[in-house]
Amino acid sequence: MDNIEKRIIDVIDEHASELQALAEDIFLHAEQGYHEYRTAELAAKFLEKCGLKPETGLAVTGLRASLGNGRGPNIALIGELDALACPGHPAANKGYAHACGHYAQMVCMLGAALALTDPEVAAALDGTATFYAVPAEEFQDASVREEVRREHDVHCAGGKCELLRRGLMDDIDMAITTHSLMVDREGGADLMLGNSACTGFIGKTVTIRGKAAHAAAAPHEGKNALNAACLGMSALGMIRETFREKDCVRVHPYIRNGGQAINVVPSEVVVDMMVRANSQQVIEEVSEKVDRCFQGGAYAIGCTCEIENAQGYMPCPEILPTAMMEEAARMLTEKVKSIPAGVCNTASTDVGDLCAIMPVMNFTFGGSSGALHSVDYKVTDPVAAHITPAKLMAILTYLLLKDGAAEAGKTIAAYRPAMTKEEYKAYCERMSG
Ligand SMILES: [Zn+2]
Repeated sequence: MDNIEKRIIDVIDEHASELQALAEDIFLHAEQGYHEYRTAELAAKFLEKCGLKPETGLAVTGLRASLGNGRGPNIALIGELDALACPGHPAANKGYAHACGHYAQMVCMLGAALALTDPEVAAALDGTATFYAVPAEEFQDASVREEVRREHDVHCAGGKCELLRRGLMDDIDMAITTHSLMVDREGGADLMLGNSACTGFIGKTVTIRGKAAHAAAAPHEGKNALNAACLGMSALGMIRETFREKDCVRVHPYIRNGGQAINVVPSEVVVDMMVRANSQQVIEEVSEKVDRCFQGGAYAIGCTCEIENAQGYMPCPEILPTAMMEEAARMLTEKVKSIPAGVCNTASTDVGDLCAIMPVMNFTFGGSSGALHSVDYKVTDPVAAHITPAKLMAILTYLLLKDGAAEAGKTIAAYRPAMTKEEYKAYCERMSG
């Protein structure tokens, strides 16, 4: 361990109780995606205290602040602001809870900012570190997406996607991301290095319209949109046998609007869903099959069927950890694992979109138990959940940017983007208008 690494660890340890208090505060005040005003304000104040000048209100609630002189590579350190709808969670705030651990990423990013802005550490960086608090990682209901589009001109459900679309990451060369353990959650690791492959998806909203009628006196005069939707879902069940294991397909619909009144033949039914797979091509193929299911169901009952697809997130490739990451992690804890190779995490994240455009270094952290997105997600080891990941994020940034930013330079040179930032903006335009 060199002096700078030691200094990073010391700075974070000296402020551990402040960071733990911040963690608890954010955890207990969970906020919905694109509505994380309180959390964003806490983050902005913290970054100001570190001597940085955050730009706020980016894609509604996002913010960023840069440390460095603009020369050399610019690395984004990402923390996610949002919680998810999980009304039964003991720490739920107006129905939202940090049951995916995103609050801990905020503490991690802010702890890293604290350490990297220490004058001795900052002087050792030959590049720029840009700290991001990013809104809305969780994909939300179509009704919420419509609302944020109307009120804030947000086109993309994912906060990272929206930042990219708005050009607010144009100057970024690579990113470091982190998350609460996603695979092997009960395996006892403090740090799990690398990123398992994740599925990508599109959002799909099916609106079936029929004809209302008295449900008892004159059902023969109606066209039952709920029956059409149920037929569509039965057909979807029947095509599942065509989904191949290797494609990691997931299609999970729910009925957002199932009818209008108890004694009326439902005349309009809205089914929302996500169509996921581990490649864009399969997502498109499955999407067409799903469309046929609902169109067929509607046709059988004499209803109409309108289908709207929404931009989701891109599939994430598997990213194995580098030797540099391993070495850094082992400075902090013995309980280090690498992601198991070849495992597809069938969940999705907008980190996939980042991965298509820039190199991404990712690790996940322990210190919590219970399933993600469930009422039993809880913190079991606050040091592992909040302090250790902050140290790793800061040390990785230092290792990438020290000595003329040689490691960052190598990483960026070896990376082949799936699309340029401009191509990505055109893709958003195609998908989201
Ligand atoms: Zn998450």
